[in-house]
Amino acid sequence: MNDIDIKVDHRDVVVIGAGLTGLTTAYTLVQKNKNVMVLERQSRIGGQIHTFEDKGYTFESGPNTGAVSYPEIAELFESLMPDCVLETAREASKCRLIWKGNKFHALPSGLMSAISTPLFTWYDKLRILGEPLRRKGTDVNETVGELAKRRLGVSYFKYAVDPFVSGVYAGDPMRLVTRFALPKLYNLEHNYGSFVKGAIAKSKEKKTERDLKATKKVFSAQGGLERLVDAMGNNIGAGNITLDVMNIDIQPEQSGWRVSYKSADSETHSITCRKVITTVGAYSLKSLLSFVGQEEINKICNLYYAPIVQVSVGINDEGRKIRPSFGGLVPSCEGMPVLGILFPSDCFDGRAPEGCSLYSFFIGGVKHPEAINMTDGEITETVKAMMHKMLGYNENEEPDMIHIFRHERAIPQYEISTGERLETIEKLENQYPGLILAGNIRDGIGMADRIRQAVRIANDCCVCN
Ligand SMILES: Cc1cc2nc3c(=O)[nH]c(=O)nc-3n(C[C@H](O)[C@H](O)[C@H](O)COP(=O)(O)OP(=O)(O)OC[C@H]3O[C@@H](n4cnc5c(N)ncnc54)[C@H](O)[C@@H]3O)c2cc1C
Repeated sequence: MNDIDIKVDHRDVVVIGAGLTGLTTAYTLVQKNKNVMVLERQSRIGGQIHTFEDKGYTFESGPNTGAVSYPEIAELFESLMPDCVLETAREASKCRLIWKGNKFHALPSGLMSAISTPLFTWYDKLRILGEPLRRKGTDVNETVGELAKRRLGVSYFKYAVDPFVSGVYAGDPMRLVTRFALPKLYNLEHNYGSFVKGAIAKSKEKKTERDLKATKKVFSAQGGLERLVDAMGNNIGAGNITLDVMNIDIQPEQSGWRVSYKSADSETHSITCRKVITTVGAYSLKSLLSFVGQEEINKICNLYYAPIVQVSVGINDEGRKIRPSFGGLVPSCEGMPVLGILFPSDCFDGRAPEGCSLYSFFIGGVKHPEAINMTDGEITETVKAMMHKMLGYNENEEPDMIHIFRHERAIPQYEISTGERLETIEKLENQYPGLILAGNIRDGIGMADRIRQAVRIANDCCVCN
């Protein structure tokens, strides 16, 4: 190929991947007048975020809700008004259900319910009073499961922590390392000696006006999460996003970077830039960074992603029996074929027609990766059986719609290999100035973490220049 056949462009920054991380990074950079190009291999933006509509239902194939855990989330939505409107969940979302002994029970929300709940044993309920006095752990690589059993007791592990980890990570609490997977929890013990003492101390900390934007409320966007990525895409501008790219190759040059790729029409393109930011999953990095040695790149790419099947179900159910709530989680020890069920129409307006309900069933995860190979028929049968057993519908009640979404690599698992991965990322970024390895390979797996990381990286890029 002659150089003359290659289309050459120059940008301040090239962002690889147009998921939430890539788009938030690019959007923040564009707001600061940076000349950015986003390269995406799919023919749409949004990555794991995808909203669908059918028969009057509005549902997600990937994430359903996030939490306004950092000011960056509120600020992002503020800046995108009126193109995208933040929607926080109704009061009902405060109720969280846990499956035990053939029925759902509400997670305690106050002292009386904490005493009377059948979810935990009397022994553990009494034992938890001593949590502030319990000694601090010494193993920095302690798993979430070990930590929970040590500080809270086995029944809290089984009926609170295990289902929570299923709901967030689709993971195994005995494999996730606390300081990587749940750093806020780790820091409560590490910095304050106890969860209770830490929570009290944190609640007393003086908060700035900006801190108060982190309301912890459950969020989506009005009309579905795709509105958020679409609004950012529109602001970045179609001319600054290239879809359907293939064979991206990133190479360091004397004064920056060269990113080459093939476009959908098989033309070869090359962009020179000061900085290149990858936001793709670990499994995609090897082909992008061919200049990095095998041994080093393997330390990043060995990150395991839990597979998940998500099933959206809409049903006309004037006679619904289950109470309005965020949804229900299923402890692994209960041996049910689902990880949990979300109730999006209880949380947000316009997700289901009047008198109807929308559910999202989650199947698979680290403990049942084989679920990804179930046929549509098997998945449908499982979901219908659970609608009867767990949600109280009659066996002959037919849903209005069922949509099945398979995610082979859904949620990265921050297990013991994370330490080595983070060290390698840091080493590469120091060795190759201008290369930034972002995305869910580090800094958290949820949408709030993705937004926060993207804003920080974009701001750092502007400060450095
Ligand atoms: C089923 C499911 C449910 C979830 N539920 C929740 C939830 O309830 N709450 C929550 O906060 N989070 C949830 N998450 C996590 C949330 O979806 C992610 O944190 C977030 O969407 C990840 O965004 P990202 O941009 O980092 O990655 P992605 O969305 O994966 O984006 C990466 C992009 O890079 C592109 N790409 C990959 N390789 C290449 C390549 N070689 N060249 C060019 N482009 C490439 C991909 O096509 C993709 O568009 C869920 C995830 C899944 C899968």
